[in-house]
Amino acid sequence: MNDWRERFPGVAEAEWRDWRWQQRHALRTPEALARLFPLTEAERRGLELTRASFRLGVTPYYASLIDADHPSCPIRRQAIPVAAEAAGAPGDLRDPLGEDAHRPARSVVHKYRDRVLFLAGDTCSVYCRHCTRRRITGGEEGGFDRSAMEEGVAYVRAHPEVRDVLVSGGDPLVLADERLEWLLGLLREVPHVQILRLATRAPVTNPMRVTPELARLLRRFAPLFVVTHFNHAKECTPDAAEACGLLVDAGVPVENQSVLLRGVNSTARNVRTLNEKLLTFRVRPYYLHQGDLAEGTGHLRTPLSCGLGILEELRGRTSGLAIPHLAVDLPGGLGKVTVQPSWLLGRADAGGADAGGHWFRSYEGRRAFYPDPPEADCGCPYDAVFYGDDA
Ligand SMILES: *Cc1c(COP(=O)(O)O)cnc(C)c1O
Repeated sequence: MNDWRERFPGVAEAEWRDWRWQQRHALRTPEALARLFPLTEAERRGLELTRASFRLGVTPYYASLIDADHPSCPIRRQAIPVAAEAAGAPGDLRDPLGEDAHRPARSVVHKYRDRVLFLAGDTCSVYCRHCTRRRITGGEEGGFDRSAMEEGVAYVRAHPEVRDVLVSGGDPLVLADERLEWLLGLLREVPHVQILRLATRAPVTNPMRVTPELARLLRRFAPLFVVTHFNHAKECTPDAAEACGLLVDAGVPVENQSVLLRGVNSTARNVRTLNEKLLTFRVRPYYLHQGDLAEGTGHLRTPLSCGLGILEELRGRTSGLAIPHLAVDLPGGLGKVTVQPSWLLGRADAGGADAGGHWFRSYEGRRAFYPDPPEADCGCPYDAVFYGDDA
């Protein structure tokens, strides 16, 4: 089923393995998709109705993973619009994270004091149907040219409080190595920028993009973390494993951010299987995102209880390393917060000789008391020495 040669006869192995070929041959029309496998009525209508509102693009590689027999295939649901996407949902927002109010430069979103999001482009090799930044990746702002990026770098340079730059977009790995090297070089030259992060879906949607040359290039800008976006174990192919392996072997740590998508990965079994698989790729699950209120994504959104239930089921039953933070990026631009099932049942006050403490429930539902120490000053006396504080 997943042999690409059946779906793309006549394509040479060398073309298939070339990331530029994948990008250039991305499927961009309903007709191109319909040639590969029969589309459902909901998909045909979705493709028609979203034609004007959001881009369509699926790399041949990602399309080769689609299960032609099942409309609910997780790859298919992420890549092909259905009619519900055009209908919208109550509460949908054009700028769901209130980013535009925090854009001191066109390519910079500065919401948290010490870190910025840097938009390196508005294009992707696959347009996720759950895209949260579709007001930008829809193409309405125009692209981000050299001068837009230079303006962003100048902003970072002028703000010494910024120690972490998250290069995103769009997908920065649609850029050629030379362009990427230029941008990362400019950011790396800023003395107060400690770490760089590069957010990309390339290991998932165009794993051929991760070449040994790219891995070495990224390593030169260390400390740089690649943050990728796997949502389902079906995406964890040998090609994806190789892409992640090249990065990690080169010395580039890789983290994963998933988005909880209703009917796609919204069960504990799916999240656990994905994250256990990612750990074998040496990729660490970082965030599990509650869906943002982006226009056209309502049909994929879960109630918060779904994500909480998933974390509840994972704790104690898989490696702690496989358990991500469940993040809700608050509307109005207020930033991300994380939520957890509550393992804490309550507090017991100190009485007589007893210290206070807390009652917990274990992952198996058993009760335990954890006492607080009687002495509760948590200051560290050596701090004054280590940080050179004035007495
Ligand atoms: C998510 C996000 C970041 C990074 O947040 P972390 O919690 O540090 O991963 C930075 N800026 C913006 C605007 C973001 O949305």
